[in-house]
Amino acid sequence: MGDIMTEKTLHLKKMLEDMKARGETWELLRLFGPSGPRVVVEGKHAVMLASNNYLDLANDPRLKEAAKEAIEKYGWGAGSDWSIAGYTDLQEKLHKKIAEFKETPAGLAFQTGFATNAGTLAKIVGKGDVVVSDELNHGSIIDGIRLSRADKVIYKHLDMGDLEDKLRQVHDKYEHILVVTDGVFSMDGDIAPMDEIVKIADEYGAMTYVDDSHGEGVLGEGRGIGHHFGVQKKIDFQMGTFSKALGSMGGMIAGEEYVIEYIYNTARTWLLSAAYPPAVTAANIKSLEIVMQEKDRVQRLWDNRNYFKKELESMGFDTWKSQTPIVPVMVRDSKKAKELAHKLFDAGVFALPIVFPMVPRGLERIRNQISAGHTKEDLDYALNAYEKAGKELGLI
Ligand code: PMP
Repeated sequence: MGDIMTEKTLHLKKMLEDMKARGETWELLRLFGPSGPRVVVEGKHAVMLASNNYLDLANDPRLKEAAKEAIEKYGWGAGSDWSIAGYTDLQEKLHKKIAEFKETPAGLAFQTGFATNAGTLAKIVGKGDVVVSDELNHGSIIDGIRLSRADKVIYKHLDMGDLEDKLRQVHDKYEHILVVTDGVFSMDGDIAPMDEIVKIADEYGAMTYVDDSHGEGVLGEGRGIGHHFGVQKKIDFQMGTFSKALGSMGGMIAGEEYVIEYIYNTARTWLLSAAYPPAVTAANIKSLEIVMQEKDRVQRLWDNRNYFKKELESMGFDTWKSQTPIVPVMVRDSKKAKELAHKLFDAGVFALPIVFPMVPRGLERIRNQISAGHTKEDLDYALNAYEKAGKELGLI
């Protein structure tokens, strides 16, 4: 069979070819320079509208300095899992900072947000339990629920009436019930009403778990969704990530002391996987300190987002359900969404088309993510490009 090593994987080749024919493969893998509100993409300068770097911390000199100091003091690799010989005083400090940030008794860092959801959900419920989950929850939540072997019941996106119906149906059939939701939904930019969710869950004796990956650094003066709704002490599991507004990498979870101790004694993604380098730990501590101190940075993010969204709408674009710095521009057609992204890129704006299967057919869009680091000139530049491309494609 010529150049192929073995023929046993040819069915995967066929599946990939089918995906390509349906236009479902990733076409926009490009080579980027350092992340920031303005980037260089394969030699071309562009305003960045597709980054999770909401607070412009990814390239902050203070994070870099903290990482450099940690490399000098602790070396590069941790050499081990945290559970074996990779735990340091720095890591302990990070756990205390996470607790302070989330306003809970205890906190724990994971290697990534994905590992946090997959590892934690797998162990806090099990066979004989049920998870009641928002239909648009992130893939890492879906995988965590599968690993747990608990039953799953889906409620309609943000529909509190449906959540209550589902809880009424399951509450006397299962020993433990867990309600799980994203805090901010990454495709639409809408917000889960955690105050109502906690109240309804309480009525049925259900535990609550929130994935606040896109809410940290954004909502509640930067402290996240618990703070935003004043329910930080009522959510049993507050999960998050350092990979978005906090400008770094790594996951986190916060809650009661014994909950955290239970998680690090059971979650296999924590127990059986290497610690990230101490330099990452140091940068993560620094980014939490900055977010807790610099409320004006969070305010700049919101001022930018409000301006951008208002201007898009006044041009006639539909920004769908956006309540956060995630601002979709609805196109409702895969081909046109990709065309719009290409036109924007040609004009020096990098924004991502989101098409089926990431969103249902008919809800194709460009997803814009605004940063505190964008200047008014950046936003006006991007808005001009949108206006021109939108007219050319008959969207406005
Ligand atoms: N949850 C949500 C809602 C996310 O958007 C992401 C990142 N795409 C994750 C979890 C995973 O986080 P990480 O990138 O830290 O693995």
